[in-house]
Order: sequence, then structure tokens, then C-alpha cells
Amino acid sequence: NRVWYLAARPDGFPAPSDFDLRTEEVPEPAAGQVLVRNDVMSVDPAMRGRMNDVKSYVAPFQLGAPLEGGAVGTVVASQDPSVKVGDSVLHGLGWREYALLPAAHVRVVDTAAAPASAYLGVLGMPGLTAYAGLLDVARMKPEETVFVSGAAGAVGSIVGQIARLRGARLVIGSAGSASKVEYLTKELGFDAAFNYRDGDIRGQLKRLAPDGIDVYFDNVGGEQLEEALFRMNLHGRIAICGAISQYNTPDAKGIRNLSLLISKRLTMQGFLVLDHWSRKDAFMEEMAQWLRDGKVRADETFVDGIENAVDGFLGMLKGANTGKMIIRLSS
Ligand code: NDP
Repeated sequence: NRVWYLAARPDGFPAPSDFDLRTEEVPEPAAGQVLVRNDVMSVDPAMRGRMNDVKSYVAPFQLGAPLEGGAVGTVVASQDPSVKVGDSVLHGLGWREYALLPAAHVRVVDTAAAPASAYLGVLGMPGLTAYAGLLDVARMKPEETVFVSGAAGAVGSIVGQIARLRGARLVIGSAGSASKVEYLTKELGFDAAFNYRDGDIRGQLKRLAPDGIDVYFDNVGGEQLEEALFRMNLHGRIAICGAISQYNTPDAKGIRNLSLLISKRLTMQGFLVLDHWSRKDAFMEEMAQWLRDGKVRADETFVDGIENAVDGFLGMLKGANTGKMIIRLSS
């Protein structure tokens, strides 16, 4: 059983030497436990935050302890009547080939209805983040102009598509390459998109949203947030979902232009998906229908092999993914 450990706390952008892949015995389940062979695992930006030794909404990863994260696998041994051998289950012990858990900590998922990886993306935590963030936190209404940053990623790509399906007048996205910009407009149905690496973010937003922005779904923080503030309409709403441009910058500076919140009567609200679990059933039902109808496209970028999980994680932090980054452990 190969398992990834945190070997050192990253200083700035993580280095491969901060991680250590160890080989261990495959454990045996005791009463009430299940043994799961992981098929796919998630790498998420929030994992970078847990590598710092700081108090937050989840405990930091411990030095010299295994990493954790979302995974879907197949039950290979069960000592609990509620979970059967052969079931596909979603759980929180990724970063390893075999996971030993209490049966109460796994959720059986239907891999006939959607591939296992979908439960880590469009039908999982990132999908619910997009849904609750856009509809409940930012309270997007039909005919509004929506701007989403990180738009070609797991959360952002779903935000833009939900905005379109819920009747936004204009959906604008930003991403970090020309090919992602083309993907947003040609494949995902965004009305407009720009590459934030081209600079002049203020000018790009002015050109693409001449009548201003009503809702900004912020995945990145930093300069794009500062410039979106300039383009916001009166009474606009900003959902602060993430700040990935700051995660690897320990001495990140504050946000400029915040006084625009006053003159424009803006609402800016941070949120965590874990507070929106009550929306899961409504979300699953609507999203599953959109997927069946071909109205939402959920692309994934796969990296194969447990030994390449760190490469996949670092790649995701640098933008190697289009849609959800998934580590595939067996196919
Ligand atoms: P993504 O799939 O979007 O992957 C991360 C992306 O971030 C990369 O593909 C890259 O795309 C982009 N990126 C990297 N560096 C920068 C930078 N300096 N400036 C702008 N973009 C950058 O990840 P997720 O969809 O899983 O997460 C998106 C955001 O949502 C993150 O900030 C994450 O922390 C947050 N989040 C928050 C949750 C909550 O409960 N509040 C829950 C889930 C996610 P590119 O090529 O475009 O640069």
C-alpha cells in the first residue's frame, strides 16, 4: 500500500521534496470497518492551506503523517453490514492506494449513474461550491452580469455554466492561457473570457463588461479582485470562494480599492461549502438532470498513478488542469 506523507511544510510554492511516498502493509478491517481500494483521488487547492501549521476551519496536516483528501474507491473487504464488498464509496482518505475506515465514514455512490471521478468534481464538493456560492451567497438573479475568475477550473467552470442556465445576461470568465480562454467561449458557452496573464485586467473587464458586473465569483483574490471592484455595479455581490493567487505567497499584500464597497453599496461575503451541505440534495438533483440533458459539461484532467499524485497536485496549483484535476489510481 503506497501512501503519501507530508515530509516538510512548504515555504511558498511546494517542492516535491516536501512529500514522501512510503510503502506499507495493506491493513485488515476490524469490526465496523471497511477496506477500500482507491480508484480516483482529488487534489484540491485547500490542501495547500492544510500544509501550513496554522489554525483554520480544518486541522493542518501533521508533519510525518499521511495526507488526506477526497477519494472514490471500491470496497474490497467489509466488517460492517451497511457496506458490501464491490460497493463504490466516497470518503476522505485519498493520497493512498488502500484506505481503512469506519463504515460510517464512507458514502456509497452510484457509478452506473456517473463515473467515480464525478463525485469528486461536478457532483461533489466543487460542484456544490459553485452552486451554493453563486445562487445562495451571491444570490445571482436572471439578467445579471456575472464574472468568475479561475473559470476553467473545477469550481469556476461549473459557476459559469450554472449562471448561463439560470439566465444570466452576460457570463464572463478569466483563466491563465489563450487555450483556456478559447475553451470557455467555444466549449462552455461563456459569452466572453480573457487571459489574466495578458495584464491590464481593468481594461479587459471594461471592454468585456461595458455595463458593469453584478456578481463576481472570486476564486483567485489578488489583482483580479482589486480590479473587479472597479467594475462592480451598485448593490453588486461578491462571493469570496478562494484566493489561489495568494496561497503560495506567504507575504501577500492586502487588497486595494476596498473603499469601493462603500460608495457602490457592495456586499462581499466569504463562504465555505461545508456550511451549505443542506443544499446537497437540491444541488444533486438539478445538476444530475443538467448532466443527463447535456446542458453542463464537466471536463477532467487525469494524472495516472499514485506515484504521480504530487506532480498532479503541483500541476493543478500551476494551472495544468482544465476542469477538475483527478489522480487515477486504477482504471
Ligand atoms: P481549480 O480546478 O480551479 O484549479 C486551480 C486553478 O487555479 C488552476 O487551474 C489555475 O488556473 C488557477 N491559478 C493558479 N494560480 C493562479 C493565480 N496566481 N491567479 C489566478 N489563477 C490561478 O481549483 P478548484 O476549482 O478546486 O478551486 C478554485 C478555488 O475555489 C480555489 O481558490 C479554492 O481554494 C476555492 N474553493 C473554495 C471552497 C470553499 O468552500 N470556499 C471549496 C472549493 C474550492 P489558470 O490556468 O487559470 O491559472
